[in-house]
Amino acid sequence: MDRQKELIEKLNAEGMLTREEFRELIEGRTEESYELLSSLARSRAQAVFGDKVYLRGIIEFSNYCRCDCRYCGIRHSNENAERYRMSPEEIIACASLGHEVGFRTFVLQSGEDLWYTDDILCDLIQTLKEKFPDSAITLSIGEKSRESYQRYYDAGADRYLLRHETASFSLYRKLHPEAQTLLNRMRCLLDLKEIGYQVGAGMMIGAPGQTTDDLLNDLFFMKELQPDMIGIGPFIPHKDTPFRDEPAGSTELTLFMLGVLRLMFPEVLLPATTALGTVDPRGREKGVMAGANVVMPNLSPVENRKKYLLYDNKICLSDDALKCAGCMSGRIHGLGYEVEICRGDAPRLWKK
Ligand code: SAM
Repeated sequence: MDRQKELIEKLNAEGMLTREEFRELIEGRTEESYELLSSLARSRAQAVFGDKVYLRGIIEFSNYCRCDCRYCGIRHSNENAERYRMSPEEIIACASLGHEVGFRTFVLQSGEDLWYTDDILCDLIQTLKEKFPDSAITLSIGEKSRESYQRYYDAGADRYLLRHETASFSLYRKLHPEAQTLLNRMRCLLDLKEIGYQVGAGMMIGAPGQTTDDLLNDLFFMKELQPDMIGIGPFIPHKDTPFRDEPAGSTELTLFMLGVLRLMFPEVLLPATTALGTVDPRGREKGVMAGANVVMPNLSPVENRKKYLLYDNKICLSDDALKCAGCMSGRIHGLGYEVEICRGDAPRLWKK
């Protein structure tokens, strides 16, 4: 424990370790070292965000996807996926409901569905910003050209979530078909940053074939990128993908990595993800106790939720928006935290 304590205290003080120190910390972790890490991570989050957790309403508006990520249940070649696509009017209705309930960030997420042209997306973003000027729009719609990203930003989009998935070229190749490259994923993230979005990166924990070295590459990549948001969650197999028989990533390692990330990035927006709540019924609460400060209840119409299945046994498939928000707020209150009704921008923007 002495060495673990030394490493955690150094990470807390300096926000960084050497590659070999990170390796030692992650591979040598124990229940006791997790206790210390998570309590320091929680204090770090509290020093920046107080006892507030931000809510984001996620609208999963289409599960059509041209990509073929080997881990993902909505991959193009999954012929068993029942596809759906919401009209812009349906998306706006969903956001209206969310706004009434108190959401001030709408995350529009989908597969890479080319039915939504840039014109359609820009009209949608503009309408949402006109209807809800007090709210932020986050896009999570995959890899696009710089010109498209610029158009969405000019139309009013505030944030963009694009997990880098893994910063290791070899693992990226194992997880994706050849046409999808890590270089393009990185190009997208850099374009998004340069344009001015609040940008989110991240990776799955326990993706098939992932080693400690891959996780270290992720940490160093993100230190360089300096994202405003980091989405991490365990990999969970989906029955209709090539990775159907692979084991899910562990709750324990995911929580440990949340703690490490909070100490590396005290100001980052760090969600306790649905995937974490899927592998452990109290996973999202444990995530907040490990330093996360964002939760993302589902605002999608209930009939669509059962079709947006990235992995097996996904939770929250049957409650409507109001119930989901209520359930999440109850869970947060139960931890002694408050749910904050505000846009919840990255702290670097508070100073403006
Ligand atoms: N198409 C957009 C994109 O590529 O960013 C957004 C949708 S994509 C399905 C959202 C995220 O789901 C991915 O970045 C991936 O990390 C996660 N995901 C997909 N399949 C998963 C699985 N089997 N287990 C856990 N997370 C998964």
